[in-house]
Amino acid sequence: MKTDELREAYLDFFASKGCVRRASDVLVPRDDPTVLFTPAGMNQFKREFMGLGDPSFRKAATCQKCIRTGDIENVGKTPRHMTFFEMLGNFSFGDYFKRDAIHWAWEFLTKTLSIPRERLTFTVYLDDDEAYDIWHKEVGVPAERIKRMGEDDNFWPAGAPTHGPNGVCGPCSEIFYHGDGIEEVEIWNLVFTQFNRVGPGQLEPLPQKNIDTGMGLERAAAALQGVPSNFEIDIFRPMVAAAADVLGIDYAKVKDTLDGVRIRRAADHARALTFCIHENVQPGPEKQGYVIRRLLRRAVLDAYQMGQREPFLHKLPPVIAEAMQAGYPELKDSVPRIQNVIREEEERFLRNLENGIGRLGETFRKTRAGGSDVIAGADAFDLHSTYGIPVEVTESLATDQNLRVDMEGFKKAQEEFSKISRGTAEAADVFALSPLDTLKEAYHHGSEFLGYEGTEAEGKV
Ligand code: ATP
Ligand code: MG
Ligand code: MG
Ligand code: MG
Repeated sequence: MKTDELREAYLDFFASKGCVRRASDVLVPRDDPTVLFTPAGMNQFKREFMGLGDPSFRKAATCQKCIRTGDIENVGKTPRHMTFFEMLGNFSFGDYFKRDAIHWAWEFLTKTLSIPRERLTFTVYLDDDEAYDIWHKEVGVPAERIKRMGEDDNFWPAGAPTHGPNGVCGPCSEIFYHGDGIEEVEIWNLVFTQFNRVGPGQLEPLPQKNIDTGMGLERAAAALQGVPSNFEIDIFRPMVAAAADVLGIDYAKVKDTLDGVRIRRAADHARALTFCIHENVQPGPEKQGYVIRRLLRRAVLDAYQMGQREPFLHKLPPVIAEAMQAGYPELKDSVPRIQNVIREEEERFLRNLENGIGRLGETFRKTRAGGSDVIAGADAFDLHSTYGIPVEVTESLATDQNLRVDMEGFKKAQEEFSKISRGTAEAADVFALSPLDTLKEAYHHGSEFLGYEGTEAEGKV
């Protein structure tokens, strides 16, 4: 099944169950200062989950554009993580609950998609006998295919019962696909939002029970297409091929090497950039702008290390818009603008980089001349802050020259700098916290702020 068909099949299936098909929310949420990017389908339904939405709107299904900056380091290394990805979700705001959510997930996977049942395994929360029994007794999944997992894996937010935050929470059940000769992959998470946590171990049942599910479109497509990686699905292959092509590299030859990782990363980052710039995010020193700047620099730096000295990333948006056309026809008109923004930023960074590489050489010479083999932290920080050379790159190039970086000193210099520059402090936070963590925190604070009673009272109005 093609990825574009899967997107439609999912939305059609849940429409047939009475879910209202809603468009994807934007990637940069307008009224939600708590997250930089939409990290999951539920984000646009925060009000509904708290019982504050239109009471007649109780079931929804979406295909949501997501960005998870917390996964940046995994991109291209694992076959499953991308910065930008699409999440298929079905949601209940006080309507259907565990039984339907589980039965419908099973029906969709095994009937609509015809996935053989022996390819699937399931997890449930330790004491969630209800979910266990539905999978085991009603659906007929053998006991050895259902694992009971603790609160860090199968509770949302993670660890809620004992060490997690107060607020709306619940156990979840994850669905894994097992392909031939590849590691199992989590394709779908069903969250049963049924409690309000008021203190450690104190979970009060919610009168309005919600369902929040997320299925990774690319992961499910990979399973259906029998390919071992999100980067090999029909819509993504052309993007990887284009990235390799503009870099003049034969992807098949380097697929399993570091250059393979770099090419996948370039394709992924170009896709994230394309979608962000479409929404008018501009590369800059703060917030979303900083994230896309960082994605672009990473891709340019990767390419630089593969010998590329000219801007190249701006050549990818036309291919991306074409590959994503079925779901996002609106991208096409933005392509020339997106290309300009990327090209200008690439040129700027390449100039910096040339200067930085020169400076790096000087730093190495200076260090040796001083009779040391340790690059001072302040020097490494200067390379990072003035020339945009990430400390990992300095470290790796230093190692090649039998030098090393004083990382303690680097961190100290960074902290000092953060104290005097709020922008940088914020920028650093972007990568310290994954957006999902941010969302979880925000979700928790939001519900706490409104107060559970307040939520209920409003729901009755
Ligand atoms: P993982 O454990 O593999 O990192 P997760 O538990 O963080 O996944 P969820 O928060 O449960 O993921 O999100 C719901 C679904 O979205 C996942 O089951 C997966 O199919 C998909 N997904 C999550 N993160 C990514 C990503 N970075 N790239 C592509 N798909 C993703
Ligand atoms: Mg994850
Ligand atoms: Mg997981
Ligand atoms: Mg999960």
